Amino acid sequence: MAKYVVAVDGVVGAGKSTVCRAVGNVLGWPAVSTGIFYRTAAFIVHRHGLTVDAEQKIRQLLAQELTKVHWHLTTSGEISYGKETLTAQLQSESMGYAASLLSELPAVRELLLPLQREVVHVCPARGVIVDGRDIATVVFPQADLKIFMVASLEQRARRRASDESLHPQALLAKIKARDMRDSGRTLAPLKKAADAVELDTSMMSVAQAAARMVTLIRGHLPGAAT
Ligand code: C5P
Repeated sequence: MAKYVVAVDGVVGAGKSTVCRAVGNVLGWPAVSTGIFYRTAAFIVHRHGLTVDAEQKIRQLLAQELTKVHWHLTTSGEISYGKETLTAQLQSESMGYAASLLSELPAVRELLLPLQREVVHVCPARGVIVDGRDIATVVFPQADLKIFMVASLEQRARRRASDESLHPQALLAKIKARDMRDSGRTLAPLKKAADAVELDTSMMSVAQAAARMVTLIRGHLPGAAT
């Protein structure tokens, strides 16, 4: 098991997964973006023609289908579902939105929680950086370092738009709705853990945000990352 866990939570488009990957490259640690678990569940639910109001059916379906998923998240970063490789299909903002709708269901969170912990449990690296919405509060409340990443809404829409080749205005409403849903839900809402350090990336490049995070990790976990 990885000895050190760095938990990073934050809003859509704050740069979590990109920055965490860059930090991982510097430290030689894998970075796991847990949104991918929810996106995969959304993909499977959609593939089987279910809608989010059918919680019992979704529970049964996912209990069965998730056993066919292999999460190579600390190695190649790929996800295989039976014979398919899913990684590319999961990246769009519409899949993110579908994941957000699904992530409100207790059955879904219950099924995905042990899978997220398992990925870190079997990771042979010295440390691992895990990002999501409830990592510091629910998935790894004992994380060695907790970071809460924020950025202005306009900046986040601009970043996502360059990924999706959409106009920033077209994304703004979607991002806002997803933030409100993720922060407002009853179960495992997005919130800053009491002992988390806030990192505002609005005015930072990926390299600058990564450098700041590496400094935080080296400062908080002496000897963990040389
Ligand atoms: O981070 P990403 O955009 O891939 O996450 C997709 C959705 O999955 C989020 O909007 C959120 O609703 C859900 N999620 C979650 N808990 C996590 C990670 C993601 O509820 N730890």
